[in-house]
Amino acid sequence: MNILKKSFYLILCLYSTINIAQERFLIKNVTLFNGEKIIPNTSILIQDDKILKIGNNISKVTTIIDGTGKFLMPAMINAHVHAWSSVSLKQAAQSGVLNVLDMHGVEPMQKQMKSTNDSTNYARYYVAGYAATAPEGHGTQFGFPLPTLKEPKDAVSFVQGRVNAGVDYIKIIVEPWKPTISHETAKALIDEAHKHHKKAVVHVSRVEDGYQVLKNNADGLVHIWDDAPITEERLQELSKNKDFFVIPTLLTITKIKRLYIKKTEDEFKTFDKFLINEVKRLYNAGITILAGTDPPNANINYGTDLFKELELLSQASLPNIEILKAATANTADRFGLENIGYIKEGFKADLVLLDKNPIEDIKHISSINTVWKAGQKVQLK
Ligand SMILES: [Zn+2]
Repeated sequence: MNILKKSFYLILCLYSTINIAQERFLIKNVTLFNGEKIIPNTSILIQDDKILKIGNNISKVTTIIDGTGKFLMPAMINAHVHAWSSVSLKQAAQSGVLNVLDMHGVEPMQKQMKSTNDSTNYARYYVAGYAATAPEGHGTQFGFPLPTLKEPKDAVSFVQGRVNAGVDYIKIIVEPWKPTISHETAKALIDEAHKHHKKAVVHVSRVEDGYQVLKNNADGLVHIWDDAPITEERLQELSKNKDFFVIPTLLTITKIKRLYIKKTEDEFKTFDKFLINEVKRLYNAGITILAGTDPPNANINYGTDLFKELELLSQASLPNIEILKAATANTADRFGLENIGYIKEGFKADLVLLDKNPIEDIKHISSINTVWKAGQKVQLK
């Protein structure tokens, strides 16, 4: 064996050893949130990229991680981002956010960014492609060309274009601060998305628009409205007749208003309370609330800032277990993301191990000890 061959062989052996050490391991005596409920003092066996077994009768494992006093949960999902480069996906992964849902971006660039979906140190990237908006409408101000819609019949080719680009869902913008599509066009887009078995999610900022698009069968809103409270009558009507979710992005709206509107801090605090109260009313009416932060708007980051949104959801009176679902299982369910969002046998081993229990205090979500993506340790900062 010549030197070159020898060193190659050595590297190969070393590489295999590292992999073998990661391939099968047990996290023992840990408090588990499996996406549905808390299971105290249990063990989880990981084999390759999957969760193989959960329970306390697991033997023949050499690599054991002691989870005593620790908390294990599914890796998180940020349900509203705009990621303009892979650096953002890396930042998300380092905070245990292993899946991000992009709500408007450049399709060829997004396709390229999906190439790191199976890389350990990057969050998986789900996309809407270009959002549906009017000529000169909100979403056209970023300087990249995109197809726009003038009337309902444009919905067919618009949605087909996104489907051809391989998007995961359709995003629609109804935003009257700039020229906007009509509710007829929004409805045509929602119907067309559903024909292609895609979810249709909508950006609104006014309660009236939120009400109209939900009546027209939108699957979800990507912001809470910020102009006025929804009437109790309309809230009851929607919650009884429609099945939808809201990604309130409380952190984003409270921050953006402070950047662009002149008000006293007391007035802002009253506004914050109004937003939080709207989320509380939606939650109490049985509507699913999902966690998202809309980075890089208002300089929000792709990782740890999601924890701030979770704290705001806590202020909106969501129980801590429901907040964890808002950042994991409920988002996976609502967007049809397969094999993630839960710690279940057969699911991807996407795990976050915390030093402290976030059921006791949601702030403990930041006590990250280890993150695994598909059974491999994510390199933390
Ligand atoms: Zn957004």
